[in-house]
Amino acid sequence: MKTKEIKTIDPTIGSMVDECMRRVYWRIKRGVTPIWEPDYFVSGRAWDAMMGEWEKTEDEQACYAAAIRAMHKVYDICNCENFNERRTPENLTSLFSLYVTQAEERPYKVIDSNVGFEMPYKDFMLGGEIDRYLSWPPYGVVIDENKTTTVVPGKSGWDNYASGFDLGRYANQLTHYFWAVCEISEDVWGTRVMVACLDIPKRASTERTQFQPLWKPRNKAQVEDYLQLCEKRMADIRRAEKLNVWPKGGQHCTGGWGFSQCEYRSLCELPIPLDQIEIPEERFLVGEPWAPWDGIKCSADLERKEGKDD
Ligand code: SF4
Repeated sequence: MKTKEIKTIDPTIGSMVDECMRRVYWRIKRGVTPIWEPDYFVSGRAWDAMMGEWEKTEDEQACYAAAIRAMHKVYDICNCENFNERRTPENLTSLFSLYVTQAEERPYKVIDSNVGFEMPYKDFMLGGEIDRYLSWPPYGVVIDENKTTTVVPGKSGWDNYASGFDLGRYANQLTHYFWAVCEISEDVWGTRVMVACLDIPKRASTERTQFQPLWKPRNKAQVEDYLQLCEKRMADIRRAEKLNVWPKGGQHCTGGWGFSQCEYRSLCELPIPLDQIEIPEERFLVGEPWAPWDGIKCSADLERKEGKDD
């Protein structure tokens, strides 16, 4: 079976390499994606689409209308039927109205939004897509990353959630973007992660923080540390490609506390050689390239942007 060589690492592929090489095989080498996507992919993507339209021009009304349209477009063409009440278009509309009402003065200028990139690093490429980046005196250039979550700021689970931007998958994602923007800009400060809580209180609450900015600077030492990880990941990929050995490394194949089961479980359970596994068409799509660096933003493009949501 002929498969494409992996030449580019983005934060999602990087996490897959760390967690399970078999996932890399299914998703990246063979281009297998489940037909049905979970609701949190859709709501995360829809929120990204809204925020991408907001502040695009000085005309707030036009931006608001464009944001609502962009959100509905994501839902109209998504491959998901059952949504948690916090992940519906209605809830996102309410959340966006709150966001707009509470919007701060803009002490920054948007340099660019929804920026796909694929840049050379040593003998491979690093890619990804940045929500937007800003010129923000006196910080300098600030990357602006959107996240949605059902975790309520300041309540149970919040500390762990927020710490994930200092260590682990989200932290690596921010460093990855920092590296990319440093390649095209000077005076890059780091990232402001704007976390939007999907859980809207039934009654207006003065205690509840619906939107929580997390300020995450980065420095050269952190970037060098991260680039070493990227080199190690690419070495792992090349070794797997050369030997055609893709170990099952999943700690959460069957799900568990806080984790849903892996979408490839039914394939990995089959007791037959990897290359002979036929992909059931009623459950999976095959051959879809993974290229979020092309700026893909909707289900029609079959984006599965892991790490964009809680
Ligand atoms: S089911 Fe387990 S081994 Fe298979 S791809 Fe998923 S995490 Fe990896």
